[in-house]
Amino acid sequence: MENFITEIIEEDLREGRVEGVLTRFPPEPNGYLHIGHAKSICLNFGVAEQYGGKTNLRFDDTNPTKEDVEYVDSIFEDIRWLGFQWDKLFYASDYFDQIFEFAVKLVKEGKAYVDDLSAEEIREYRGTLKEPGKNSPYRDRSVEENLDLFMRMKAGEFPDGSRVLRAKIDMSSPNLNMRDPVLYRILHASHHRTGDKWCIYPMYDFTHPISDAIEGITHSICTLEFEDHRPLYDWAVDVCGFEKKPHQYEFARLNLTNTVMSKRFLRRLVEEGKVEGWDDPRMPTICGIRHRGYPPEAVKKFCELVGVAKANSEVDYAYLEHCVRDYLNANAERAMAVKNPVKVVITNYEPGGADGMFDINPGAENAGSRPVRFGKEIYIDADDFSENPPPKYFRMKIGGVVRLKSAYIVRCTGVVKKEDGSIDYVECEYLPDSFSGNDTSGVKAKGTIQWVNAEHAVPTTFKVYGELLDPEKDAEDFMDKLNPNSLTVYQGYTEPYLREKAVGERFQFIRMGYYVKEAENTYIEIVGLKDSFKSKS
Ligand code: ATP
Ligand code: MG
Repeated sequence: MENFITEIIEEDLREGRVEGVLTRFPPEPNGYLHIGHAKSICLNFGVAEQYGGKTNLRFDDTNPTKEDVEYVDSIFEDIRWLGFQWDKLFYASDYFDQIFEFAVKLVKEGKAYVDDLSAEEIREYRGTLKEPGKNSPYRDRSVEENLDLFMRMKAGEFPDGSRVLRAKIDMSSPNLNMRDPVLYRILHASHHRTGDKWCIYPMYDFTHPISDAIEGITHSICTLEFEDHRPLYDWAVDVCGFEKKPHQYEFARLNLTNTVMSKRFLRRLVEEGKVEGWDDPRMPTICGIRHRGYPPEAVKKFCELVGVAKANSEVDYAYLEHCVRDYLNANAERAMAVKNPVKVVITNYEPGGADGMFDINPGAENAGSRPVRFGKEIYIDADDFSENPPPKYFRMKIGGVVRLKSAYIVRCTGVVKKEDGSIDYVECEYLPDSFSGNDTSGVKAKGTIQWVNAEHAVPTTFKVYGELLDPEKDAEDFMDKLNPNSLTVYQGYTEPYLREKAVGERFQFIRMGYYVKEAENTYIEIVGLKDSFKSKS
């Protein structure tokens, strides 16, 4: 890949500013990863790989109340699924002792102070973009007093929110992040790794640069909203006295059309039962798209094609689907399935004829073919038969001919109805000398349709998911934009051949779409066959 980050890395290597590349992926274990995280993973692991470097996985676990081991495990799984392996595994909480020592050092050097203002007062004193902030009345406490108070904060003498440790930088800085940012807060909460050892926790802005510096991260890649935090990042690395200084670089978040990727929203969907779970196939989570059948290769390709931008924008979701379809077209085995079955009886056919040969994947080289057994009774899709065909209808219609894929041409002779008027079955006659690949009938069928031999047909459930959010609905709250019809379930048939296939395998059901096997006899539509993506160039 080539982008502004790789340009920076190449220059750093050329100028000898770094010896090698060490990046990190720093998720907060407070939810499941989504496609936006996949972008960050592909970038962090991808650039390191490209320059023979490594990537650490570091859980940014400074928010004890929101974190859970469940999320940690899912993050391991998601990164591996994308095909990456981290070098070292860390938790920001591994550094709590060291971070605390750095804070003590800052207090002793007069670079940090304990503030008794409330959170609200701190906000008021901070000022605005137009107005400078005001110094806290506690800003000029003596080093001794600060040290004593900080130690007592750590010892648990004060309630949550009563005091904080702040950096003493500049209350009139044009950058609000530099107006004496909070470094430590009091929080009497159990941490999923450190238990009750701490009742003060360092803030992200203090923890992150120190963690990066301790690990020797060379390029700390994050998203644009941290751009204004970079001076603080550099300040922390400097005042803590690190010799090898990591640097932060910001890129634009990946946003997808009609998709919300904030963990907060995704959690609401799960908790309010709007979806079946974090891995619901409609969710933009990595486990969701995995369940949906998206191949990791396609997700990686998508991240690469989207590139790394410096300005926020929205990428068409159809582009991701396009990448998925593209990959599956080349890699998915073909099979026949019918999701809305109508029975067809071939009145003049005697069972026991030759097998047709069915192409395993015409999109791939040398994929070969496999036999498919024709029968006297078959199922076709209800959409492929019409009693009142519109003009140019080349599927099955009374009096017309159509080819059954990898088998014969049939002529439809009639339809037999049930008492209630619905179709019981359709009658056809086959043309014995029209066998696929050996057709001497001289009859030309303009359409070819798929079918499943009724004798061996496997009753199958097909789940077709629609968009989670309805793009037509206009609402402030995403919860009000939910599409109530985002799942349609069909009961149909598949070829018996698919029985031996593993759960997770992906197929193109010809003329239907790409499907993944979710369970025995259950398939989920991954994407349809038709590409709606229009490249702008
Ligand atoms: P969210 O806002 O969805 O909860 P987050 O940024 O809080 O996401 P983290 O766990 O902190 O989630 O993110 C881990 C890494 O993934 C960070 O470096 C973050 O910048 C990056 N990341 C998160 N969302 C995106 C996105 N949409 N596009 C690119 N990178 C992202
Ligand atoms: Mg975050």
